[in-house]
Amino acid sequence: MDRYVKSPDLRELPVGENVAVYHRLLGGLCILDGEAKDVLAGFDRPQEVAAAALAGEDKSLESQLVRQLVLRQLLVREPGATGEADGPGMPGIPAEAKINVVQLVLVNACNFGCTYCFEGVQGTDLEKKEKGAGTLSILARQKSAGDSVVVNLNDSVYASETRLAHQLDPGNRLMRPESAVEYVEKAIAIARSTGVTQLMIQFFGGEPLLNWPAIRAVLHAFGTGAAHGITLQYTIVTNGSLISEEVASLFAEHAVGVCVSFDSVKSKSRPLKNGSDSTPIVVEGLRRLQKYGNRVAINAALSSDTWASFDESLVDFAEEHGASEIGVVVDLDPTFYARFGQENIIEKLWGLVQAGAERNIVVTGYWHQIFQLLLGFNVVPQRGFKNCSAKGAQLSIEPNGAVFACKASSGHFGSIQEGEGLLQSEVYKHHASLRYENPKICRGCEIEGFCAGLCLGPIEKKYGEVDSVETSACDVYRGITRRFIQALAPYQVPTFDLAAARSAEA
Ligand code: SF4
Ligand code: SF4
Repeated sequence: MDRYVKSPDLRELPVGENVAVYHRLLGGLCILDGEAKDVLAGFDRPQEVAAAALAGEDKSLESQLVRQLVLRQLLVREPGATGEADGPGMPGIPAEAKINVVQLVLVNACNFGCTYCFEGVQGTDLEKKEKGAGTLSILARQKSAGDSVVVNLNDSVYASETRLAHQLDPGNRLMRPESAVEYVEKAIAIARSTGVTQLMIQFFGGEPLLNWPAIRAVLHAFGTGAAHGITLQYTIVTNGSLISEEVASLFAEHAVGVCVSFDSVKSKSRPLKNGSDSTPIVVEGLRRLQKYGNRVAINAALSSDTWASFDESLVDFAEEHGASEIGVVVDLDPTFYARFGQENIIEKLWGLVQAGAERNIVVTGYWHQIFQLLLGFNVVPQRGFKNCSAKGAQLSIEPNGAVFACKASSGHFGSIQEGEGLLQSEVYKHHASLRYENPKICRGCEIEGFCAGLCLGPIEKKYGEVDSVETSACDVYRGITRRFIQALAPYQVPTFDLAAARSAEA
């Protein structure tokens, strides 16, 4: 008979009179009532578990519970008795090459002048920058933008010099439609070589709809992907100002998930390039999307610029314009967390989550994906990434065919023309090595298996490397995840209510 004990990776969190338990690397979150909690507590010290219980032959309530806890690796074999304790843990999972997402950067220009966007370097037009300013002056401007952001100009991989050189290259402004089709074809071949059967194509920019001909060409050429041996799904991140009837109807036909960036009806952070308010034109675009029954999410930024205007009016706006989801990108600048305070940021997010829940509107973001991932059991290998696809799961293809880890990141893998050879690049391998395994500082963190830390771009700028952690954001990730767990009602997730089961039996 084997002896079992609580896994060191088990985490417990009170939820009313019950307790939520999960494996901090694998997930499998479930709720235990008081009696079930006592059964679990019995494994503070190693206890024998009969083979019949493990095999599911013993139908007693306690045995069934123990079996489930073993299957979730919340109870593991006593270390030493049969060698290692059970449970793969993150370090044991190989960081194989796997491409799940292709980000197609269709255009490096935008018709908006958002104050916080990386596209136009603080909202100014790249076209204009190009004439008056060289790469180094932009870098110098970025450096002086804040002491907390340090650009390592001597490291061609992690510094943004390569990235900015591509940003400023007139030959890298617009992706030709035939190039877009060629790049997607090559990207599908690369993804298939890694064994994936589903691929997400994300239309990105700048403002991707400034290059509608290339989007249309891709949708027409690949459709569902069936003719190319893969299932394709599409999303677009757009400012919503260029949604024509044709765009809205073709998006509906190809089930393109449309993320429309919009901060708040009160926000002045997203003006048109001429300085006028973008809201009326975006609202018109949303109406067209609604008319064709598109899947729409409102993408909002919670940042220093939007802090004051970020409130529940977003939910009203989403509801009124047929959006079923609000995606919130929390400021990528590490100083934001210190400036506004973790608890206040959590409160802002949670207020919106609750307001959305009352109206059937899901409020999500990479901070929410952590909770979603820990509801499932060991789902990260299947999904291919935690909450940052740039860590080995994504190719971000520029108009000139250069491939980066993400539009937000400087990790340069090479050119799409290299095909599968891209995955052999040291830069790709380094990013893929972070797919499951976080930097050492994360060891033991209650959400290590699901959290990839802050977005790569600001991490690279501050630390000059991608395998660093910005700890000022950690309490927000952990705090908001706890809020989600503690808001769970019994039976929303697997619930072991021994008392209720016993009285039902009686
Ligand atoms: S980045 Fe922070 S919150 Fe995320 S796993 Fe690491 S220590 Fe935990
Ligand atoms: S690098 Fe940033 S923007 Fe890109 S996938 Fe990761 S978190 Fe998202």
